[in-house]
Amino acid sequence: MTQPTRWLRRGIAAMAGSLLLLSSAAYAGAPQVKTQAPGFYRVMLGDFEVTALFDGTLDLEPKKLLTNTTQAQVGKLLDRSFEKDAVPTSVNGYLINTGSKLVLVDTGAGGLFGPTLGNLQANLKAAGYQPEQVDDVLVTHMHGDHVGGLVVDGKLAFPNATIHAGKEDADFWLSKANLDKASGEMKGFFQGAMASLNPYVDAGKFKPITGNTELLPGIKAVAAHGHTPGHNVYVVESKGQKLVLWGDLMHVAAVQFVQPQVTISFDVDSKSAAVERKKAYADAAKGRYLVGSAHLPFPGLGHIRAEGKSYVWVPVDYQQVR
Ligand SMILES: [Zn+2]
Ligand SMILES: [Zn+2]
Repeated sequence: MTQPTRWLRRGIAAMAGSLLLLSSAAYAGAPQVKTQAPGFYRVMLGDFEVTALFDGTLDLEPKKLLTNTTQAQVGKLLDRSFEKDAVPTSVNGYLINTGSKLVLVDTGAGGLFGPTLGNLQANLKAAGYQPEQVDDVLVTHMHGDHVGGLVVDGKLAFPNATIHAGKEDADFWLSKANLDKASGEMKGFFQGAMASLNPYVDAGKFKPITGNTELLPGIKAVAAHGHTPGHNVYVVESKGQKLVLWGDLMHVAAVQFVQPQVTISFDVDSKSAAVERKKAYADAAKGRYLVGSAHLPFPGLGHIRAEGKSYVWVPVDYQQVR
């Protein structure tokens, strides 16, 4: 055997040995952990600290849910964004520490939507806060995935907070007459809203919002009715920086940024919902301010830019808090 051949043989033997080691290491590997990092993400907005809180994800099927479009069109747009028929859809809330007040915008689903949601309160604690510290809860609208977290086991989850929501939503969703005349599948929406809000109404801790109102210094409610009769967005401003929390102005990024006219079956008044969405997109693109959206992939914070008649979502970069 020549010298080089011997080296080659030794080399191959050594390689085989390390491969054997590698594969036996894989067999004896650590158990897979299968949990995610705690669901909070912080940014500073002027003097305000904003913490996005993750409630969980829910699989939505846009082909079945989206309206004012076709299944084929939705399928094409989903495919373009590497999405399948079921899109894992985030539910996000936002905690704002103004320095003098702790304000939560939307509360997640609590116990209303099963095991994949209902983590907002745990993530609020993981983010360094306690539910008792929350002074005000601003509700974008009274769908269960936004208000379910107001109660835990029938008790006030935020015992020291005043709850604010659009008066038209309270009149609509908390009406016994509306519940009675609702169809079977719609009844759950009313029951979820009542179970979540009524304990606060009974305790004198609910304040309805009428029209555009400054609720606290730097935090304003702006009516964007359509998705529900009293749907509000919240405008947060500090030191010239601006964040608009959209609630449910849109649900499916892959479709509704490209085609803002596409609506969803949860809309109470889909025509007005589409008008408000287009208005909000155009304003955010022009104003170049930060947007937070309840159902965009967590943390749901970013900017949007116009491209022809479509829009493009630009998520924030992951970053340290500065
Ligand atoms: Zn909704
Ligand atoms: Zn929602």
